[in-house]
Amino acid sequence: AEQTVIITGASSGVGLHAADSLAQSGRWHVVMACRDKAKAQNAAASLGMRPQSYTIVHLDLASLASVRRFVQDFRALGQPLDALVCNAAVYTPTAREPRYTADGFELSVGTNHLGHFLLCNLLLEDLQNSPAAEPRLVILGTVTHNPKELGGSIPPRPDLGDLRGLEQGFKAPHTMIDGKAYNPVKAYKDSKVCNLLTMRELHRRFHTSHKITFSALYPGCVATSGLFRESPRLFQILFPVFQKYVTGGFVSEAEAGGRVAALVDDPAYSRSGVYWSWGNRQKKDGKSFIQDVSTEASDEDKARRLWDLSAGLVGLA
Ligand code: NDP
Repeated sequence: AEQTVIITGASSGVGLHAADSLAQSGRWHVVMACRDKAKAQNAAASLGMRPQSYTIVHLDLASLASVRRFVQDFRALGQPLDALVCNAAVYTPTAREPRYTADGFELSVGTNHLGHFLLCNLLLEDLQNSPAAEPRLVILGTVTHNPKELGGSIPPRPDLGDLRGLEQGFKAPHTMIDGKAYNPVKAYKDSKVCNLLTMRELHRRFHTSHKITFSALYPGCVATSGLFRESPRLFQILFPVFQKYVTGGFVSEAEAGGRVAALVDDPAYSRSGVYWSWGNRQKKDGKSFIQDVSTEASDEDKARRLWDLSAGLVGLA
């Protein structure tokens, strides 16, 4: 029988191709959790996805009310939940002023971290109730979370500091987790450190009790994806060329989607609490390996404090 996977942000890029790959396998029904249903429908049709292989359900991660509504709408479908992929993200590198979610949180951390944090928490019991032997929860990370890696060494570096911005409620004027001045690139990297801390804390709290496998990955540099839609035009032209011919880090959207699908579906990825990479500089036959997360993303005290503060902000505490 088919299993059911929810993929957030499946209307483009990595999420769309992960959805396509899992739907094509015939083993998965994909719930595409998207903020723009028409866009998701067109995207699925453009890849020729079989209409019976997916359901599009509205989810706007930049609204806590929408996250809660999504969970109700998903449950109304009456399908068990066997896997959840937290893939959606926004990146606003050229924003001069902070933008905000419906709840008044800075947009990148609010969407990428807090929206997914609430979603994961609400859907834990659904995953726990899955008839699958080993339900999985997969979170997208990135190399730029880790200053120790070449791809993460370019400033601004992520730094959650003492989490002062979260402690102060994370609404204007507190737009950065460390409580310092707004920087949109750093905000994105900070949100990705949060994604990894969340994966590790989920593992610590629930792996044994809930029998869920929690993992994360760096899918490779998907330089052509919509993630860079707000980057300067010249960057959008040159970045893929640079990644293809200079660093060798370039990965197509389809290949990256396939890697996400593998973490959902392939028995080789059943280990919980780990972060997978295929290497920053891709080799033709590059194999996956378990990669260390950054010093900050492996800080257990920070993971606990981030969990507690996030739970407060999304109304779970
Ligand atoms: P895309 O921009 O192509 O995809 C992002 C998806 O997130 C889109 O479907 C977008 O929806 C969705 N999204 C954005 N905001 C919201 C929201 N508020 N509610 C619901 N969905 C939302 O980028 P990628 O495919 O590249 O990114 C996917 C993941 O991969 C991200 O987590 C990113 O951090 C990660 N990643 C990407 C890398 C890369 O090189 N591209 C490298 C490392 C990690 P819409 O279509 O409506 O805009």
